Amino acid sequence: MNYLSTRNKDLRMSATQAIAKGLAPDGGLLTPAVLPRLPASAVETLKAMSYQQRVVYIMNSFLEGFAASELTAYAAEAYGGGKFSHEDVAPIRKVDDNTYCLELWHGPTCAFKDMALQILPYLLAASMEKNDEKRTVCILVATSGDTGKAALEGFRNVDKTKILVFYPKDGVSDIQELQMITQEGGNVGVSSVVGNFDDAQAGVKMLFADEALAETLAERGYFLSSANSINWGRVLPQIVYYASAYCDLLKAGAINKGEPINVCVPTGNFGNILAAYYAKEMGIPINKLICASNQNNVLTDFIKTGTYDRNRTFYNTISPSMDILISSNLERMLFELSGRNDKQVREYMSQLAEYGSYRVDTSIRTKLTRLFGAGSCDDVQSKAMIAKMWSEHEYLIDPHTAVAFQVLEDYRNETGDGTMTITVSTASPFKFCDSVLDALGVQQRLDGIEILDQLSSRTGVPVPMPLARLKNRQRRFSGVVEKSGMRDCVLDFLK
Ligand SMILES: *Cc1c(COP(=O)(O)O)cnc(C)c1O
Repeated sequence: MNYLSTRNKDLRMSATQAIAKGLAPDGGLLTPAVLPRLPASAVETLKAMSYQQRVVYIMNSFLEGFAASELTAYAAEAYGGGKFSHEDVAPIRKVDDNTYCLELWHGPTCAFKDMALQILPYLLAASMEKNDEKRTVCILVATSGDTGKAALEGFRNVDKTKILVFYPKDGVSDIQELQMITQEGGNVGVSSVVGNFDDAQAGVKMLFADEALAETLAERGYFLSSANSINWGRVLPQIVYYASAYCDLLKAGAINKGEPINVCVPTGNFGNILAAYYAKEMGIPINKLICASNQNNVLTDFIKTGTYDRNRTFYNTISPSMDILISSNLERMLFELSGRNDKQVREYMSQLAEYGSYRVDTSIRTKLTRLFGAGSCDDVQSKAMIAKMWSEHEYLIDPHTAVAFQVLEDYRNETGDGTMTITVSTASPFKFCDSVLDALGVQQRLDGIEILDQLSSRTGVPVPMPLARLKNRQRRFSGVVEKSGMRDCVLDFLK
């Protein structure tokens, strides 16, 4: 199967090239030339499979150039061997008669980024080999928390790869910092950068644009790459859990064969909900895609009005992984909704770059409102939802998941739509202890690692293993650099 750019359909490449490159040379997003349709028997077949087998079944049709035996090996490495604390990998949990929650945080870093970043390194390393790439790739990441740790854990000790993560000195939580500076593995590096996330990200962008640096590294046998969420190798593994969740609902007797469901997804960069759309297009009976935003509600407005406008106040919220005003993966959605009109996508994206806004035509608007529900809520509402889920269902959820439950409640009140719905849970509540304890009315909150036990004793919910283990982990990285020192840091790391 070929991949093409959302900005130019004539620009085509193979699956291995799409994964190795990450982004099309014209700035467009690489997208499958055709979306495979699942056979009518797929759900029955998938239902009997393990999660790892479901991965192979779904991903195979997108990845020409990979043998099923190769994918089987990657799936076993990525999702087996005790890497996930739940044997279903992405289990569903019943909330009430027409609501289930899909838990995507049982991986090694307790956030949903693990679902893709556990398998991407294998896809990337194999793609490089198949493309005859002899050099070693060094993944550079600037992170505000979740992505850096998930990427470190995914790339840890994967052949022909190295990974170097920069995080803002004062921009991540104590737990997140501890997760990164205790990272194990022979091919990993971590450094903090003086400043905020924007400084770290601007620094990494400069490194990618530095041709002299690229030349020096090439002489040493390295090239730089990123693992960001627009890489097709990060979207594809996310399609699997929607198909998987549908099968698990059937298995649980919660729905009948062929019965459509809704999904409600806490959304930032639009990668997760885009995967749900692809699952639907492939034939999984999904009806509405409900897009949930925090106070940064640029997507809610877009879906409701047809105008995307990033010219607005940016809010730092208690669901930081959704604090985004440019949702990059939306470009793939526009490509599909415009009937794969690359010229139109190019036009919208250049308006976005120039004016920070664009307005889609009536045909796209009609499709948008037919496909999507949308809503947003603020921190006060998401904290209230955390408290409510705890008191009514004894279900402890994180602030991102709380946004989705709040938006689902509003959507149901507004529309009366009582369809069975899967709400997607994207992080363990223990990654956000401070906000969760606050929501539960605890005024005196502890610092550092102690807060994990505080949340656990308050609720009786055990601390997830990967976080509990941080206590005994050795601190391996203590480097702090100025933005101007990041270049030397890379040269030193790739000696
Ligand atoms: C990344 C992330 C999101 C947003 O996912 P997108 O694919 O960017 O829409 C939501 N919640 C958590 C906890 C995340 O880490």
